[in-house]
Amino acid sequence: MGDTADSDLSAGETHGAADEDADPVLCPVCSTPYDSVSLHDRGLLVNLLDNERYRRVCFEPVERDGRPHVRFFHHTHEQVGADD
Ligand SMILES: [Zn+2]
Repeated sequence: MGDTADSDLSAGETHGAADEDADPVLCPVCSTPYDSVSLHDRGLLVNLLDNERYRRVCFEPVERDGRPHVRFFHHTHEQVGADD
């Protein structure tokens, strides 16, 4: 057979610029779905003791334009569950 290994890479794949800012589906820290994500380049205060919407926030250090940032993954009570 004259079959060439023809991997069809161009089949409907959107091939935009490499997007490092693309948010992951799951939190990279605890592998749990999250409600929102935010990026910070300086310190800030987080107090979730009495937060009705979010149960916890995970922090992931990242680099943007050569500068250190921290990415916050906000988890709601439903996403985290009661026993975590
Ligand atoms: Zn998390």
